[in-house]
Amino acid sequence: MKRKYMMLSMMISGPRQPGNDIDVYLSSLIEDLKKLRDEGVLVFDGFQNESFQMHAMLFCTINDFPAYGNLSGYSVKDHHACPICEEDTSYIQLKHGRKIVYARHQRFLKPHHPYRRLKKAFNGSQEHEIASIPLTGEQVLQQVEHLNTIFGNTQKKEKSKSCIWKKRSIFFDLSYWSDLDIRHCIDVMHVEKNVCDSVIGMLVNIQGKMKDGLNTRQDLAELGICWISPAVTFWSTFSL
Ligand SMILES: [Zn+2]
Repeated sequence: MKRKYMMLSMMISGPRQPGNDIDVYLSSLIEDLKKLRDEGVLVFDGFQNESFQMHAMLFCTINDFPAYGNLSGYSVKDHHACPICEEDTSYIQLKHGRKIVYARHQRFLKPHHPYRRLKKAFNGSQEHEIASIPLTGEQVLQQVEHLNTIFGNTQKKEKSKSCIWKKRSIFFDLSYWSDLDIRHCIDVMHVEKNVCDSVIGMLVNIQGKMKDGLNTRQDLAELGICWISPAVTFWSTFSL
């Protein structure tokens, strides 16, 4: 990640993020990547003092979660937000906070991991299920191959809410893309920052940066994760 190894390949200007239409902007980059893979480019090696044909391929993309949705064409909102678990995503719709939370992450641990048996530290139940296997590139391509996406601000946008895949990602134009095991990665530093912000915000009680509140506590009580005393309810109502 050193600066001398980084290259700005494009910049998209405009008042809004392109969202799913990002494929239109990416097409020129994809063209270049195709050329790099198939033909290669002539590069001079100063050490050997000779020219050689350099080939390159795209290994994976690193992005935040909303961009994951835009690049992969997967709908990263609502009940099936996890692109790995897909239909099998474990979600709970909160009654008071109205948010969707995703639970049962112990599934991703090794089969006999001690954390799987911890009840109190997690959501009050043991977890013995095995996590679902991520879809291969071929399987994803099969699901999105038939999708007909119209880019741009057209008047009539087809609302296909039933399909969790929104488009055939332009990356599939690269011949090797469907052979890659991991195509998109989450930028962990970005996520860490957000989680850290919320935790610190809660610890030092910064208004607007805090996830604690009456709804949250009622939801926690509902899920059986923490007990809520009537006094707390009263106090929270009062302070809010
Ligand atoms: Zn998942």
